[in-house]
Amino acid sequence: MKNITTIKGTYDLLPHETEKWREIEDFIHEYMHLHGYGEIRTPAFERTELFVRGVGEETDIVTKEMYSWTDMDKGGTGLTLKPELTAPVVRAYIQHNLGGKSPLQRLYYIDSLFRRERPQKGRQRQFNQFGIEAIGSPHPEQDAEIISMAYFFYQSLGIDSLSVKINSIGSSHIRKPYLALLTNSLTPEIHRFCNTCQTRIDKNPLRLFDCKNDSCQKLLDEFAPMIFDHISDEDKIHFESVVNLLTTMKIPYTHDKKMVRGLDYYTRTTFEVTSSALGAQDALCGGGRYDKLVETLGGNPTPAVGFAAGMERLLLTMSDSDDSDENSTVDIYIAVLFEEAIPVAMVAADEIRRTKGMSVMVETLRRSMKAQMRESNKRKAQYTIIIGEDEYRQNQALIKDMETGQQDNVPISDLSGYFSPDDHHHSDCDCCENSD
Ligand code: AMP
Repeated sequence: MKNITTIKGTYDLLPHETEKWREIEDFIHEYMHLHGYGEIRTPAFERTELFVRGVGEETDIVTKEMYSWTDMDKGGTGLTLKPELTAPVVRAYIQHNLGGKSPLQRLYYIDSLFRRERPQKGRQRQFNQFGIEAIGSPHPEQDAEIISMAYFFYQSLGIDSLSVKINSIGSSHIRKPYLALLTNSLTPEIHRFCNTCQTRIDKNPLRLFDCKNDSCQKLLDEFAPMIFDHISDEDKIHFESVVNLLTTMKIPYTHDKKMVRGLDYYTRTTFEVTSSALGAQDALCGGGRYDKLVETLGGNPTPAVGFAAGMERLLLTMSDSDDSDENSTVDIYIAVLFEEAIPVAMVAADEIRRTKGMSVMVETLRRSMKAQMRESNKRKAQYTIIIGEDEYRQNQALIKDMETGQQDNVPISDLSGYFSPDDHHHSDCDCCENSD
């Protein structure tokens, strides 16, 4: 029978990897807390309509990347695994009237999402993002706060070759005349574009910029007017204020007039933080302002700005020196050489964990003494407790300090009394930091 394996574009995280993930997640929670952002969690699936309306009908996500199905129990409602996290956050913002509770909501999330893309390095079908949304402020300092949070996040993790790409695609009212101009400029050449671009030109020509086809990108360079050259004076002032604030904060940026980002909801600022350490998929995170989305999804007109950052890509930039141990480690390994001693070993293990906060593993494979000592070494145990038949009969166990080689005989009934909480030697865990 053929083995059942993960679906293409999805993967398992094994214990030696989850440790690294948890460290990053802890760092994110701490970082967001330092900036006064509160965590929000939304469901794994939503009504399809949320993404069609929110992300945009002609976007890559909605036209070809969503995992959708019809829920017959609900009278045929279209449902979709979330392919994007801003629309659900805005849905929750409206549903819970968060705007009524505070004029500015600063929210963040860490979450999984699902897109039917062509899997490659740094691009999966189920992947993880963390991100922030500041809903309520129209001012450039809010854009600057968001961009600086993204930039300094990566900087504080020691990731180098960082750069911010920024652009403005203007307010929503300049979109219509610009799109007409774009269509007029590209129509004579449209037969030279790919099939997708050819169908998009009539429906949403801005989405031609998302095309991953090199020859389409070259044609755009040659024939497309840039949206930045058609934004309003107010939009330009907003953009200048944002980049001036970046300069003040010593954040290097380049103005990329071609960057429109692949979602319909953006207005004014769009940006990406990139690292040349990443290769072809060089965007660590992307975001921008979306002043119309709350209204589009049925809320009161409310300006907003945010970013979403790929967790996998972050870990890719950090995993160059991945020599992490495949096995989880423990403070104490209890080697049991005699079947009748198993229950007392298990009771003692529990008591040590509970009263001393040390991690303990008990042998459950009934192996030879030699194999159990090897296991203890592999787990980097600081102590091995050995319970043999003779010792057991005398209510004794041998405790061996694996570093110094010192051995002590201790009554089995009081194994936990041997250890003081200071013995617990996890590196950088909260319980150690807090114990005085
Ligand atoms: P987006 O939601 O498309 O703006 O993407 C924001 C960030 O999420 C990107 O900069 C990537 O770091 C990450 N990302 C997007 N799509 C994928 C994917 N299919 N697999 C892994 N990471 C992704």
